[in-house]
Amino acid sequence: MSTDLVELAKRRGFFFQAAEPYGGVSGFYVYGPQGATLKRKIEDSWRDRFQVQEGHREIEAPTIMPEPVFEASGHLDTFDDMLVECPECGESHRADHLIEDNTDIEDAESFPLDEVGDIIAEHDLHCPTCDTALAGEPVEDFNLMFQTDIGPGSGQSGYLRPETAQGIFVEFSRLKEYARNQLPFGITQIGKAYRNEISPRKSIVRVREFTQAELEHFIDPEEDEPPLERVADVEVRLYSAPEQQGDEGEYLDTTVGEAVEEGIIASDWVAYYVGVAQEWYERIGIDMDRFRFRQHLAGERSHYASDCWDAEGEIDGDWIELAGISDRSDYDLSKHDEYSDEDFTVFRQYDEPQVVERATVDPDMSYLGPEFGGAAGDIADALQSLAERDRSAFDGGEVTVEADGESYTIPVEKTGFTVEEIKESGEHIMPHVIEPSMGVGRALYTVLVHSYERDEVEGETRTRLALEPELAPTTVGVFPLMDKDGMGETARDVAADLRTEGFDVTYDDSGNIGRRYRRQDEVGTPFCVTVDYEGLEDDTVTLRERDSTEQIRVAVADLADILADLRSGDRAFTDL
Ligand code: ATP
Repeated sequence: MSTDLVELAKRRGFFFQAAEPYGGVSGFYVYGPQGATLKRKIEDSWRDRFQVQEGHREIEAPTIMPEPVFEASGHLDTFDDMLVECPECGESHRADHLIEDNTDIEDAESFPLDEVGDIIAEHDLHCPTCDTALAGEPVEDFNLMFQTDIGPGSGQSGYLRPETAQGIFVEFSRLKEYARNQLPFGITQIGKAYRNEISPRKSIVRVREFTQAELEHFIDPEEDEPPLERVADVEVRLYSAPEQQGDEGEYLDTTVGEAVEEGIIASDWVAYYVGVAQEWYERIGIDMDRFRFRQHLAGERSHYASDCWDAEGEIDGDWIELAGISDRSDYDLSKHDEYSDEDFTVFRQYDEPQVVERATVDPDMSYLGPEFGGAAGDIADALQSLAERDRSAFDGGEVTVEADGESYTIPVEKTGFTVEEIKESGEHIMPHVIEPSMGVGRALYTVLVHSYERDEVEGETRTRLALEPELAPTTVGVFPLMDKDGMGETARDVAADLRTEGFDVTYDDSGNIGRRYRRQDEVGTPFCVTVDYEGLEDDTVTLRERDSTEQIRVAVADLADILADLRSGDRAFTDL
């Protein structure tokens, strides 16, 4: 079925492979005249649900960032997929996908490299391109980031961001000022991300340039709680990690509230966004019988995540990941705090000032200098941090610290170690981050697959996209019954007036009326308006609904209000 859809997508301008005049390039797609509008409307709907309704704010950061950002974030070291290359044809394959496609193993990504190599050999897996045996071929980590040089000459090394999130984390110190240093607050970003996927596939599902819609919700993990009651009754289908590992592998149909009470979703915050995501995917027209939340297995989680539930949609019997809802803990902010000169903490005021004991050192530099030379400064810093961490280390006559990979032992009397009582009005804490991260292209693709229908109308098979009116690229098609006797002019006026009212309108006067309806059905236009002879007499038009093909007569003067209600869902066609 998705093959028909991909053909329709290309023919009717939803999406198609980029740069085809030059042979095309794998993993890059163009959203055409229908698709770009559908995509923008999905983004608008996401922005409404995850940003406006939640009271968050949006930013737009660059897509290229300097290397130190990704050293700190861990992407340089760990943002890898498993690569196995065919010794015969040279084609590169993602080793874990090869295993998942050809064996019963579902979570190959969670195995270490050497085991993956063993599984390829045990199952005698072959190259999907030329059928050469891959047993014994090395399985290697391949970093997915696109590298580039910033500026001419040797320049500065940079990377195209593999997720929009880092653009938010890096700017945290400034963003917290805009939030008046108050947690919790959320920052969203919708933008391009780039991953040099080993083998792009399944049309726009796995590409090398794609759009993410991400929310980074910064919270105080001890004090802040989500408004769980707002989504407690939302029904969800959960596929937990223990169920995936057990023999039965059953789904649990439950509510968000119960999932939290029974500890199935450990974090209230993750559960909250599971509820919000469920509502949103339903709103954009994903078939809820082909939708679930699957918990990540321990070995599958990203380097930054402490828990993660993926929203998944079913397409042709395969489950694809639509979104990840992760508890990223304080991983990213701590790393940027450590690697940069900025402060990534937030000051938490106590209700009452508190008297606390603070251990400090005041090292005798006239001893450290001559004794340890250039290392003396680093040793002094190491002593201070040790005093804060573990004051019992100063209990004996000597204390040992590490500085620049070397161990140094210093008499305690030379460290100036003291414990003093001070009054503090608050403390610096590292916020935690809850992140719903959605792929816009995957949402769009799944919406199209789930809304693709074939039925029979007037003895003919018709193809129809049952898109939600909120998302359809064209909200209303306007036709004259024939372009004569003034019907063409009136229909053009109706179309122009509706455009002024902010509707996406397609005007069409070519071919018979049945064919014009079919064309709009195929691109998911929910409503069509036709000007006929009767309408010329009494200022009315016929209004047709796509799915039922029912038609009613409405006054031109009421048309815009009726269409606005139908698009927002405030009124149903059957209530007119
Ligand atoms: P996968 O396991 O499918 O590679 P991921 O777990 O690496 O995805 P995340 O890092 O969680 O994905 O990214 C968040 C979202 O971005 C995904 O849920 C998906 O919708 C989207 N996404 C990720 N990689 C791609 C890609 N190569 N093409 C299209 N969308 C993508």
